Amino acid sequence: MPKRFDSRRSGKPTDRKNKSRYREQNKCRFCREKVSEIDYKDIGALQKLVTQHGKMFSRKRSGNCARHQRSAQRAIKRARFLGLIPYVT
Ligand SMILES: [Zn+2]
Repeated sequence: MPKRFDSRRSGKPTDRKNKSRYREQNKCRFCREKVSEIDYKDIGALQKLVTQHGKMFSRKRSGNCARHQRSAQRAIKRARFLGLIPYVT
């Protein structure tokens, strides 16, 4: 078991397998900001949840909890209907 870790730099065991490189908090972004419902007019927030082409990120990718992912889904679909975000073709 320890053989796996000390093969790389500096022999610090938690250096590599530590997943907290860009996921410090385990709560979703909207839970942290105590947002109850994601606003479909808030394009800045919605842009972070979709790709450049307007495709939605998965829950794993966006880091949202189930409740806020559903809320984001509704918000993005509404924003698409209003022409704020492109449809995926
Ligand atoms: Zn949440």
